[in-house]
Amino acid sequence: MNTSAEKGNRSAGPVVRTVLGDLDPADLGVCDAHDHLFLRSPQMPGQELADPGAAAAELAAFRAAGGAAVVQWTPYGMGRGAAELPGLARESGVTIVAATGLHQAVHYLPEVLERVRADLAGVFVAELTEGIGTTGVPAGMIKVAGGFHGLDRHARYTMAAAAEAHHATGAAIGIHLELGTGALDVLDLLCGELGVAPDRVILGHLNRSPDLVVHRMAAEAGAYLAFDGPSRAHHATDWRLPDALAALADAGFGDRILLGGDTTTAAARSVNGGPGMPHLLRRHRQRLQLALGEDLVTQFLTANPARAFAAHWGRHPHTTG
Ligand SMILES: [Zn+2]
Repeated sequence: MNTSAEKGNRSAGPVVRTVLGDLDPADLGVCDAHDHLFLRSPQMPGQELADPGAAAAELAAFRAAGGAAVVQWTPYGMGRGAAELPGLARESGVTIVAATGLHQAVHYLPEVLERVRADLAGVFVAELTEGIGTTGVPAGMIKVAGGFHGLDRHARYTMAAAAEAHHATGAAIGIHLELGTGALDVLDLLCGELGVAPDRVILGHLNRSPDLVVHRMAAEAGAYLAFDGPSRAHHATDWRLPDALAALADAGFGDRILLGGDTTTAAARSVNGGPGMPHLLRRHRQRLQLALGEDLVTQFLTANPARAFAAHWGRHPHTTG
């Protein structure tokens, strides 16, 4: 991608930065707001998402189920498949947004973290504006991670870098909350200490901790809440989701809710017999529509992600050191 997006029409509204260039958020369509086409971690040997053919098949299945866009929350150094993403987007007709950012330290070999430690924010900004590695394929969001009911040094360091890159670019920050916990600690740090506007923060995995009070507090703070990964191994929380979403919607926070599939292993792909990305629209959408009504679920899948991921790219005066 060239840099016309940054230099271009500054009076225009915010846009979603996709792997094929910047997109009017009105054109995003039905969006899986948190998923993975490619993913690799030392924590998950033998379950890597690394096969472009399988990614293409999964995207086709998602498209056939009515899907239009996928946001891949795979950060730096975890096998994002950046070079493959534009071709997959073109071939499938599904819009793809890639991520920069950094996961918990446990997902990296020490030498990988050493490589980026000196200027992590600089790496994030470069990936959001110039592209990932040498691919020229831009990231469109920043993904970082908290810990179980707390934030360790690594989490605080990566969130500080994420905030700096956000201030420089406008990119939204998506958070892996460990088992859905620590949401308020993350907001205290990112918004309270680091000056990120709450509506630029997307809290992920909240379904894994169905604490309606915490959900309500995070929504009241102004953050987006991503309920992702239905049908995963921790399915005990799946059946609580309609009630959790209804509580938020009844309290007036229907415009804060995002939905995602969060396919993280090869075995979970629909093309390998798992629920995969289409499950979000084939089954999950249906049951949520019954519980909450069609309009609200459509809002979760279209208007909300369009607003959450769109940014005024490059408008920001801050620069990274
Ligand atoms: Zn994920």
